[in-house]
Amino acid sequence: MGSSGKVKPLLFVAGVLAAGWAVLLALGGAALAGVGPNESDASAVTVALPSPVRNVRIIEARVPGRPLVLIDPGHGGQDPGATALSGEVNEKELTLQIARELRHRLAANGRVRIAMTRDSDRYLTLDQRSALARRLGASLYVSLHMDSAPNPLARGASIYSLSDVASDAEAERLAKVENSAVARAAGSDGSLRAILSDLAVRSQMTASANFAERLVRNSAGRIELRPQPHRFADFHVLRSAGVPAILFEAGYISNVEDEAMLRSAEQRSAIVRALAATIEADIAARTLR
Ligand code: ZN
Repeated sequence: MGSSGKVKPLLFVAGVLAAGWAVLLALGGAALAGVGPNESDASAVTVALPSPVRNVRIIEARVPGRPLVLIDPGHGGQDPGATALSGEVNEKELTLQIARELRHRLAANGRVRIAMTRDSDRYLTLDQRSALARRLGASLYVSLHMDSAPNPLARGASIYSLSDVASDAEAERLAKVENSAVARAAGSDGSLRAILSDLAVRSQMTASANFAERLVRNSAGRIELRPQPHRFADFHVLRSAGVPAILFEAGYISNVEDEAMLRSAEQRSAIVRALAATIEADIAARTLR
C-alpha cells in the first residue's frame, strides 16, 4: 500500500551466502528449526532459509562492500501489534510504511546496504528476525515499533537499547511484552547465550547505546520525544541479533496527535530523516575506526 516502495539501486537476492557466513549459520541454526546448509559448489554455501526469510532483497550501496543495515518493521501477519486510537490502522501497517520510507531514503543516499526483515504483511518470530541480522552479517539492526498506553496523553518517540537491567519499570514491562512471544518457542535462547561471549555482548550493548544517544541528538527539536527518550532493558530480539541493535518506538498510536503524525507521510519524514542520518553517521563512525 505504500507509495515509497520503489527503490532504484541494484537488487539482489540473498540466497547464496559467502563462505564466511558459515559461522553465522551455526549461530542461527540453533534458533531456527528446519534450517540446514546445502552443498552447491566449493566456494559458496547455500542456505535453505525458512519461507518467511527467503529471498531477502539486499539493496546495494553506491560503493560495493558497504556495511549492511537490517530494518525490521515490527509485527506483521497474524500479529497486528497495537491498534491506533481511531481503530483505523494497526502498528504493523505503520511500521512497514516507515520502514519502506527509511529504506527509500537510505537507498537514495547510497551509503549503506539495506535489507528488511519483511516487506509485506507477513508474520515473523523474533528469532527469525534476529537470526536474519546474523545471517546477513548486518552491521546494525533497527526494529521499528509504536507505543500504546492507557493514558491518552502519553506521546512521543523513544529508543530502547539492550541492557541486563532495565532503565525503569516501564522499560522492563515493555521488554516483558516484547519477549513474551519468545517464551512460546522452547529452547530458543540457551544455546545462543552460550555461544556469544560476555565480552561481545558488552561491546554490542555499548555500540547500541551509542547509536541510541546519537539518535536522540539527531531527533531533538525535530520530532516529539518522550522525557528521557533513551531507555534500556533486556530485549530478547536485541540481544540475539548479536550486532548493535535498537528498538525505535516512533510514537503513541493511542494518542490523537501522534496517530495523526504517524499516519501522515509528510510528518513521518522527520522521523525518517533522523533515523537515516543517524544510521549513516553511526556506520561512518564505526567504519572509520
Ligand atoms: Zn511493537
